[in-house]
Amino acid sequence: MCGIVGIITSEKRNLVPEIVSSLINLEYRGYDSTGIAILDKGAIKRVRRVGAPSDVFPPEEISKELDVSESGFSLAVGHNRWATHGKPSLENAHPHFDCTGEIAVVHNGTILNHETLKQELVKLGHTFTSTTDTEVIPHMIEQKMKEGLSLKDAFLDTAALLEGSFGLAVISTKEPGKLFIVKRGSPLLFGILKNTIIAASSSNAILSYTNTFIPLTDCEYAEFAIKGDEVTYRIGTTFNKNQTINKPVETITDHSLADISKGGYESFMKKEIHAQPSVFRTTILGRYDEKTGDAVLGGLIDHEDTLRNAKGILTVACGTAHNASLVGGALIESLAGIPVRSEIASEFRYKKVPLDPKDTIIFATSQSGETADTLESVKEAKRKGYKTFGVINVVGSAIAEEVDAGVYARAGVEVGVASTKAFTAQLAIFYLLAIKFARERGMTAQEGRALISELEQIPDLMMKTLADTEKRVIALTERYTAKNIRVINFLGRGINVPVATEAALKFKELTYLEAGSYPLGELKHGPIAVIDENSVSVILMPHDELFAQNKNSLEQILSKNGNVIVITDELGAQNLKEQNVDIITIPTLKHPLLYPLLEILPLQLFAYHYALALGNNVDKPRNLAKSVTVE
Ligand code: GLU
Repeated sequence: MCGIVGIITSEKRNLVPEIVSSLINLEYRGYDSTGIAILDKGAIKRVRRVGAPSDVFPPEEISKELDVSESGFSLAVGHNRWATHGKPSLENAHPHFDCTGEIAVVHNGTILNHETLKQELVKLGHTFTSTTDTEVIPHMIEQKMKEGLSLKDAFLDTAALLEGSFGLAVISTKEPGKLFIVKRGSPLLFGILKNTIIAASSSNAILSYTNTFIPLTDCEYAEFAIKGDEVTYRIGTTFNKNQTINKPVETITDHSLADISKGGYESFMKKEIHAQPSVFRTTILGRYDEKTGDAVLGGLIDHEDTLRNAKGILTVACGTAHNASLVGGALIESLAGIPVRSEIASEFRYKKVPLDPKDTIIFATSQSGETADTLESVKEAKRKGYKTFGVINVVGSAIAEEVDAGVYARAGVEVGVASTKAFTAQLAIFYLLAIKFARERGMTAQEGRALISELEQIPDLMMKTLADTEKRVIALTERYTAKNIRVINFLGRGINVPVATEAALKFKELTYLEAGSYPLGELKHGPIAVIDENSVSVILMPHDELFAQNKNSLEQILSKNGNVIVITDELGAQNLKEQNVDIITIPTLKHPLLYPLLEILPLQLFAYHYALALGNNVDKPRNLAKSVTVE
């Protein structure tokens, strides 16, 4: 979570606009306060503000406040905070200083042993000015330098003392031509330009300068130094300071700058919702064989036997990825007949799960590939002997590296904090996986071919769904935001239940209103008590084999004066036209198991327009961060 940036250049200039623009490109990771520190005229100067860089950090104003030298400067660090310890406030915003103001640190992550370290430092006379966990770091470096260590050794010894997760960047007046970074658990990489190196938590922060970069792995540090006209770098590990590690320079090929611009849309989320047809096409491209009616997943090719012999599947994920896994579980169970258990990663990692690792395989799903709970679940599962597979979007991310094998979601960079295109891309992978498992078991070639041929039509049908439903959705959100709606529930049966759960999650994330989600038949066992004229029930009920049961439950809600919105197909809409309900019609599909792919689209739009009508920030909902790299 959060974002850090560090720039070092041999060509002095005002680095404030560059740091600010990189921080803006990292806003999606969290942004409750912002700060930068520069080393100029022999001193470290800093500006910190509460709020996102795009709102509170106009580069010209900040440059003035920092009183930057006309001749420029060479070193700067910046931070977007997503508070984990201490509330968002000026004192808690990074960069943090030591007692003398000669060392500045930006930190992404959490330090679990900060209280013990702080007690020790306070005893030694250090004064703290924030309630963050981070502040122990500059003070510990200061302490170690007082005891005679160089900046580098003090920095590395401090890193070795820290428990928890961190991506750190450090500058000091003691060595004005150097920048140090180190990581464990939090992502960190650096891009190499002529005369300049820029280090950051994500490639998004450096893509507008270069598409070549070197990512650090856990316990690696990098030391950057100005030598004449150049900036040199050296990578080492915290457990062997003197060993130099040579790492290849990587090029970003799977996503482009286009992904981190709004491309004419008013928000990233809107753009990403509308990108789903083309993302879906890209995700399934080349991953099926029309002749054999089978899925072809290159990433799993070396594990055919394991997949064929699996008697059970366990999915682990968090949030939206968990909801995608639940849809995946329903698909695999009904198409392939393999029992699937879905666990929320933060539960799984601490739980006894009585399954046999010999024939149970694990699918870990995460957009960022950094989700701490999912990463730890994978490590725990491997410890217990399970084979682990990933459904990950970000290539080369921590989970992608940790699993035995996997399938990339190919959704491109997702900037909107509330996930949309990554969700449908994850679903696409689960459809392919379900076909693969099913074809290895009872499914015939004809059945496989029929399913694949309908999957091929999904992008066009998604486009039609978005085009046909958005106006209607806007009208409904306008109507309901004007009313005193107290309760909103999302309901369905079977494979539509996890879609309802994802719709409720999207609604909560964006509108900040509590929303429930239930299997429709469960409503009468309790939740129906909340239904009255100030409630809205959104029911997902395509005209499938449970339509009659759904209609019966719908009548129960109407009889309690509840407002009802129905998401259904053409036949369903026809059947319900006499009912006192608002209908959102999606295209009719041959295979009812494919409905989640269309149903979710008007529901994402519903959450989006409802939030807009409430005046909320749809790209960066409050309290949320894009990659949850802390426990
Ligand atoms: N734990 C630190 C804090 O609360 C850093 C949080 C972050 O990653 O933004 O300040």
